[in-house]
Amino acid sequence: MKKKKQPERVAEAVNRKRDQITKNLHPDALAPEYDKALQIMEDYLRSQKKRCTVERRFVLQALYQLSSPVDIATLHDIVCADEGNVSLTTIYNTLDLLVQLKLANRLELVSRGMTFFERTLGQEPHGFVICEQCGNIKVLRKLQVLQKFDSQLPKGFLPETYTLQIHGLCAKCQRANSKKKGTPVSSQKSPK
Ligand SMILES: [Zn+2]
Repeated sequence: MKKKKQPERVAEAVNRKRDQITKNLHPDALAPEYDKALQIMEDYLRSQKKRCTVERRFVLQALYQLSSPVDIATLHDIVCADEGNVSLTTIYNTLDLLVQLKLANRLELVSRGMTFFERTLGQEPHGFVICEQCGNIKVLRKLQVLQKFDSQLPKGFLPETYTLQIHGLCAKCQRANSKKKGTPVSSQKSPK
């Protein structure tokens, strides 16, 4: 049987993992900027006499297919779902490379002690709303407040990344808490 092309295989791996891992993962169509990003990564690796391995392309593609930030463990699962046993080190190294090439953005979600990654090319300024209880992350797009910032930046300043995180409790968690009134909130798990 003919092996499927890589973009289709990644799309399937992302879809398979979507519901299992997190409700926050929203696989979309591959961002049109993926080709440009791949070119940049390939050119750089070639200049370093390194190979652009399938695993590296997988990580890049998964990032350019997800519309919300993804953590390393989830990315690892997505890559392993298709490519078999890929080491976490490979995932870390590839993400480091993508950040260095400004193809990915590293987000530290301090309260959860986790690091997330998202694509950079083709992204408009956006922020994040994070539920402290279930960990749900919602991406806020078309934020007027961020667009207004641009007009206040020093003359000639070119912004590259924006970080706006609003931490709190989502409506679901608040409802769950008021039901079990009086008992302390201890569960860190996402409500089913
Ligand atoms: Zn919540």
